[in-house]
Amino acid sequence: MLVVGSANADLVVPVDRRPAGGETVLGGDTVLSPGGKGANTAVAAGRLGADVALLGAVGDDPYGRLLRESLAGAGVGTQHLRTVDRPTGIAYITLTPDGENSILVSPGANSAVQPADLTDDALDGVRVLVTSLEVPLSTVERAVLRAREKGVPALLNLSPAAELSADMLAAVDVLLVNEHEAGYLLGASDADPRELLGLGPRSAVVTRGAAGAVVVEADKSTTVESPRVEAVDTTGAGDAFAGALAASLADGAGLVEAAERAVRVAAVSVTRHGAQPSYPTAGELE
Ligand code: ADP
Repeated sequence: MLVVGSANADLVVPVDRRPAGGETVLGGDTVLSPGGKGANTAVAAGRLGADVALLGAVGDDPYGRLLRESLAGAGVGTQHLRTVDRPTGIAYITLTPDGENSILVSPGANSAVQPADLTDDALDGVRVLVTSLEVPLSTVERAVLRAREKGVPALLNLSPAAELSADMLAAVDVLLVNEHEAGYLLGASDADPRELLGLGPRSAVVTRGAAGAVVVEADKSTTVESPRVEAVDTTGAGDAFAGALAASLADGAGLVEAAERAVRVAAVSVTRHGAQPSYPTAGELE
C-alpha cells in the first residue's frame, strides 16, 4: 500500500488542564515521539507486516532523522519520502489525565508535498492508497484521482476535516472519519452515518472512540465494538485504525473484517503512550 501524508515530530506535554488565552500553565516533562497522520498510518500498517511506503517530506533536521528511523524500524519504504528545505512538521500536543489530547500542528516540510510528487509510477503495484489531510489538499486530490484512474482502491482519512470537491469524494472507496468529522461533513453531529454515502464515496467508516466504529456499505451498516481497555493516551488512535484497516484491505479482507481488526489494533494503541511507539505488531495482537 502507499500512504500519502504527513510526518511530524510529536512534542507531548502532560497537563492537568489546558491554558486559556493569555494564561500560563506548568506541565510535566515533554516527551518527543515520531508522529504525523501519514507516518503513523504507514508505521501502524508496517508493524502488522504490510508492504507499505510513505510519500511525504521531512526536513534536514533531527526530527526528520527520528521519523526516518521510526519508519525504517517498522519496515516502511521511504523511496517516496523527500528531504526538503523546510523544518520537519511538529505537532504540539497537550495530554490531560483522562487520556484526551489537543493538538496544534506546524506543517513545515509537509507543506512541500506537492501533486507533482505523485509521479506516474508511484501507484504501480499498489493495492490500496491511503491518504489524510495534513498535506496540501491539491496533493491529496491528485492522489485520489490518480488512484481511481489506475483502479487502485483509495481510502481517505478525512482528518483534519476539510471541504472536499464532489469529484474527489466520488473517487473515494472508503471514507474514514471520526464522529466530529462525520458531523462536519453532514452538518449535524447526530446525523445518520449512512448519509455519508450520499456525498459520493463507495463506503464509509465512522470511528467512535471507546465505542468502536460503524461500517457503512451500500447494502448494510454494521457496528463494530471495541475491546474494553484502559486508555492512557489516545494520540494517533485514528491513524492506527487507518493503517490497520488499509493493511487488511490490501490483504483482501472485506471492510467489516478489516474494521474488526482495526478496533483491536487501535485499542492496544490507546493503552500505551505516544502515537507510533504505541502500535502493536501482528504477533502482539494474538
Ligand atoms: P480519532 O483518534 O481520529 O479522534 P477515535 O477517537 O474515534 O478517532 O478513535 C479511533 C479508534 O481508536 C476507535 O474507533 C477505537 O477503535 C480506538 N479507540 C479510541 N479511543 C479508545 C478507547 N478509549 N478505548 C478503546 N478504543 C479506543
